Amino acid sequence: MYGIALDLGTSGFRAQLIDLESKETIKTAITMRHPLPGGNVMDHLDFAIQVGEEIAHEIILDTIKEIINLFDIDNSKIERLAVCGNPIQLSLFQNIEIRDLAYAGESKQKKLGVQNITRDARVFKANELFKDILDLPNCTVIVPPAIKHEIGADALAMMIKTDFADQTAPAIVTDYGTNAEMALKVGDKIITGSAAAGPAIEGQGISCGMLASPGAISDVNVEGDYWRITILDKDMVPQKAHLIDPISGEIIEESDLVAKGVTGTGVVSALAVAMKYGVCSNTSCCFGQIPELPDGKLTLAKDVVITTKDIEEAGKAIGAIRAAHLTLLVEAGVPYKDLEYVYMSGATGTYVDAEKARRLGSCPNFAKNIVQFGNTSLALARELVLDKSKLDVVIAIAHKIKADHIMMATSDIFSKFYLCELSYWTQGMPMEVYNQMLEMYNLPTLPEICESVVIEKRVSKDIDDVGKEGLSILDDIGITIEEHARDCILCHKCEAECPEDAIKIVEKGSVRYANYNSERCLGTSCHRCVAACPVNAIHYLDIYIK
Ligand code: SF4
Ligand code: SF4
Repeated sequence: MYGIALDLGTSGFRAQLIDLESKETIKTAITMRHPLPGGNVMDHLDFAIQVGEEIAHEIILDTIKEIINLFDIDNSKIERLAVCGNPIQLSLFQNIEIRDLAYAGESKQKKLGVQNITRDARVFKANELFKDILDLPNCTVIVPPAIKHEIGADALAMMIKTDFADQTAPAIVTDYGTNAEMALKVGDKIITGSAAAGPAIEGQGISCGMLASPGAISDVNVEGDYWRITILDKDMVPQKAHLIDPISGEIIEESDLVAKGVTGTGVVSALAVAMKYGVCSNTSCCFGQIPELPDGKLTLAKDVVITTKDIEEAGKAIGAIRAAHLTLLVEAGVPYKDLEYVYMSGATGTYVDAEKARRLGSCPNFAKNIVQFGNTSLALARELVLDKSKLDVVIAIAHKIKADHIMMATSDIFSKFYLCELSYWTQGMPMEVYNQMLEMYNLPTLPEICESVVIEKRVSKDIDDVGKEGLSILDDIGITIEEHARDCILCHKCEAECPEDAIKIVEKGSVRYANYNSERCLGTSCHRCVAACPVNAIHYLDIYIK
């Protein structure tokens, strides 16, 4: 019999097929994007609220069906499916209340009747959920509990699967992703938060960006006058590849590994190297200042470049994460220098060169110890698949954790830190002025970087073992959502306006429809197609799965 561990990540799904008798991983499957329209978890939530939770739920289940199809097994032999993710993904998966996650204000929640929502662990028959989408007659679905309604199973996973939950010294754990989940522990007290870092942190939304997957550039290092590029191989192991002159793009030394794009960690790495060694037309550029790129770009491989705009996007993501880390510490009254441990998880937390991340500030550079882990959500799901009794242990831990949550979106302290970050990353504000701004806001200034840090990498890959049959990538989920474009005059302005080539106007007889590619579309945060339509023929509301 088989078990499936599934991580519903904000930037894509990751699943492992496990042989329950031998406990071995057979195969791993990943999607390259999230199937719902939008670039972050708030877009997914917004889509579900605006367009319909039922549709969002069905898109997620359809995607899981495609992933299970990739495993190419007899579905009646699947005994357990354990699913981990943040509260929004897990609620959409189960088709349970989500509105409490959309509206922070208590009075609004009261008005909607969505107060005191709990997200307890659940165990239920798969066919109750999948109904006619997929027949899993012998499968039980296991969903781990949230710590609180807004502190999800993914946060629990990162606390349990690192040493964080048992740590006695002040520690921060962060699951680096589009929505960077984080927690600070001081004694018994835990404060959680999340930073809407945006897709750049995982390599999406940047010109040659891609998720951590085979062919992705994950790191760069200086060798003499050139850059040695690191690329993830077919098993997602980082391998040294070609040597390149990043300014001219000339390949100095070839490699068998072909770069398809660059991950968020690759951008962070290139930025850190550029800031340390300089590649700029601006001769005053040195570490601590945002580099001015020659001709507005750096070349990492044939057809893979990083542009000034990409650096700005990555900078905003790093800035959001640093602002959230600092907010947690200030809110908890912990002096920066008391921070002992920093735990980094998720693909970005695993593949990033921690020293470079420290230099850029995406992990607190005043902490004394850094420990890098892999994908903790998938690891927890895996444990729940392998050992039925583990769920009770996880529930007991979740009950024991007393955690408070800070909504960064409504935190005055966060907004002040983030303003400093935006000025630093997008307007070239020097660090001295950053600290002067903090003084003006009555916030503690940033200390010197801790130079005697201990960095420990516990895993070499975010998914430790992809299994004997290796990794399969579901590159095209293939879900189209459709809207009747009643008054369409076939001007195709919506198609021309779309930045993702995600909309097509089709005709069936004399009736016209807008077809949106669900995984490509940027969703409710974009709507450029709707705004471009001269006759109001599309509204992005009355949508159904084609
Ligand atoms: S323009 Fe429309 S179809 Fe294109 S990404 Fe934006 S919302 Fe989606
Ligand atoms: S912009 Fe409006 S009228 Fe033009 S093709 Fe698109 S839906 Fe039709």
